[in-house]
Amino acid sequence: MHVPLLDLKAQYAKIKKDVLAAIGEVLDSQICIGGPKVAELEKQAAAVSDCKFAVGVSSGTDAILASLMSLGIGAGDEVITTPFTFFATAGCIARVGAKPVFVDIDPKTYNINPAMIEKAITKKTKAIIPVHLYGQMAAMDPIMSMAQKHNLYVIEDAAQSISSTYKGRKAGSVGTCGCFSFFPSKNLGGIGDGGMIVTNDEKLAGKMKVMRDHGQNPTYYYNFVGGNFRLDPIQAAALLVKLPYLDEWSEARRKNAEYYNKKFAGTEVKTPYISSDCMTVYNQYVIRVSNRDGLLKHLKENGIGCAVYYPMPLHLQKCFEYLGYKDGDFPESEKAAEEVLALPIYPELTEEMKDYVVQSILETLG
Ligand SMILES: *Cc1c(COP(=O)(O)O)cnc(C)c1O
Repeated sequence: MHVPLLDLKAQYAKIKKDVLAAIGEVLDSQICIGGPKVAELEKQAAAVSDCKFAVGVSSGTDAILASLMSLGIGAGDEVITTPFTFFATAGCIARVGAKPVFVDIDPKTYNINPAMIEKAITKKTKAIIPVHLYGQMAAMDPIMSMAQKHNLYVIEDAAQSISSTYKGRKAGSVGTCGCFSFFPSKNLGGIGDGGMIVTNDEKLAGKMKVMRDHGQNPTYYYNFVGGNFRLDPIQAAALLVKLPYLDEWSEARRKNAEYYNKKFAGTEVKTPYISSDCMTVYNQYVIRVSNRDGLLKHLKENGIGCAVYYPMPLHLQKCFEYLGYKDGDFPESEKAAEEVLALPIYPELTEEMKDYVVQSILETLG
């Protein structure tokens, strides 16, 4: 049996007609940049996030980049984030000329440990970027009170967590702004790259709209330097077809997780810890085992897709050598990088597939 980590064809099969029709509408209109599809997706993305404003951008990475640029963060500034995340979180901080300052994770949730943030704050700190990893929001209350105390912006990296909640509040709606990715493997995936920034700050949203268009306002007049961070209307059209299914798909992911959780109960497989404050959307279902590499090899040999998010924490990456971090600086991130393994969790998994995954794992344990 073959169980891929993600099967986008299974999802596409159900919505193919509508996606093709929506793309056809964009092509017939020949509105190839911006236009009504992008505006409608912004409206709906703001609504699902309980935010007043949304700005469509070219990717999740550009959502973070344009947020930092719009908040005026750059050379001489420091931005606090987690080293246990996808590269883009810290990559964007470095790209605007600011210094990424890492803080270790809570080993249970894999999200930034709020209790360790204050030690990392200096006079140069301008913002915190908590990452809502795997679909579960970071502990936003302590993060926000720390930010308020020190007058810092909070940019939520919600690339993996659209429509996820913390104490009933939606991802992206708690901080200064929130960043989503529509990379195809995210819970709301486009048919290419795409992203969105949500915020309740009208002035900031306005600046972001100018920022994504080179900073031009009016046309051919530039008060600041922006970029081409625009969302493609063909992406918006496909995403508008998918958005109504988002909650149903997240629920299916939670059901799959529940199934795994039951089967792994009492074994040495550590299942995901979900805080009672949170409703996760399980962009990834990540287990923890001591012999991770052995298990990964065994699963791959048995035709099961699985992956390590992420094998090397960012403070140990070659490109960040100049920051001066060393092995041992963030022990929980380093340990997680050695022990985590993401299993197939996508909504269309069948019971047989889940069972096969479970059996293949259990047979390797003593
Ligand atoms: C996917 C992802 C991004 C980047 O999004 P892209 O759309 O691929 O640019 C940023 N941060 C996290 C945590 C992600 O998972």
